[in-house]
Amino acid sequence: MNLLVWTYHRVLPEASSGAVRAEIFEKQIASLAKSGCRFIGTSELEVFLKVKLPHTDKCTMLTFDDGWADNLIWATPILKKYSAKAVLALNTGFINKNSCEIRNSENYRMTNSKEALAAAAYGRDYSSFLTWNEVMEMKKSGVWEIQAHGNSHFGCYGNLDEIRGFYPDKQHWTMESALGEPPFPGAPRTTFRSILADSKTVLSNDLKNTLRQAKNENARRKLCKNHGSPVTTIETAEEFGKRVRDDLTSCRDAIKENLGQAPDCLFWPWGHYSDSSVKIAKECGFKMLFTMEKDAVTVKTPADKIPRIAAPANFEDFQRQLTIYSNPLLRSFRKMLP
Ligand SMILES: [Zn+2]
Repeated sequence: MNLLVWTYHRVLPEASSGAVRAEIFEKQIASLAKSGCRFIGTSELEVFLKVKLPHTDKCTMLTFDDGWADNLIWATPILKKYSAKAVLALNTGFINKNSCEIRNSENYRMTNSKEALAAAAYGRDYSSFLTWNEVMEMKKSGVWEIQAHGNSHFGCYGNLDEIRGFYPDKQHWTMESALGEPPFPGAPRTTFRSILADSKTVLSNDLKNTLRQAKNENARRKLCKNHGSPVTTIETAEEFGKRVRDDLTSCRDAIKENLGQAPDCLFWPWGHYSDSSVKIAKECGFKMLFTMEKDAVTVKTPADKIPRIAAPANFEDFQRQLTIYSNPLLRSFRKMLP
């Protein structure tokens, strides 16, 4: 039997990007519980990976990334109802420090995910995220264990090989770090990498200037294509190493200081990692590292690259993923497909 680790972000009463509706979330958890699935925490997963014996009982792990306040307000009551456990992968940079209240569905102001992330990324408003008091409340509920998701959650340009379009349409909230300034109309939309996985990059200054003045998308595409070095790395390997070490240490220390217990698992932002970031995370004391590579956990899974499956926002897709990845044969077939 394969073990699935699910990734959630938000649970909200209404549809929003990156969220599973509370009603659907309950259906998902209820179906797992009804099928006899046991909800395990990270220490049990660690034993599973160490012992390397195929386990016979059905197990699953629920993980929630970032630290959204709705995890307390809408997910917790449902998890309690089905005696389910879950792991909160907390990005300490997102913590809402402006308030110490413990909110509920009455006084929580709902903001869509894109706006909430953009506001938090630019340091303006963290109100969609948990306060330390709320995280403590979750820890004390017996439902949640709190683990690490870094202290910064930014991306930077990987390359400009596959341009999907240009800003300002569909602005991504991580772009400030990618561009070194707020996104400008004409900035390319393309692959990005977490700054906790690779050295920071910036878009070349002269390219930025010409993109700003370019008349249309075709001209912009040409400018990007013809530029010799559109993306420049601005950190040495040493600088990168120090920054990642400082980031992971500050995340770990903040959790220890506020909750009295240091995390020993790290969930990479967007699941991005590199050989050097994995090495640093282990040196910082993280025993298990989680990616977002879509797969099941088996006895062969290495503890430093644990795959997770993004929980779909609708029930049918959830059931489909569950069926495919729980079954060793179907999983192998799925992995052979592109
Ligand atoms: Zn995240």
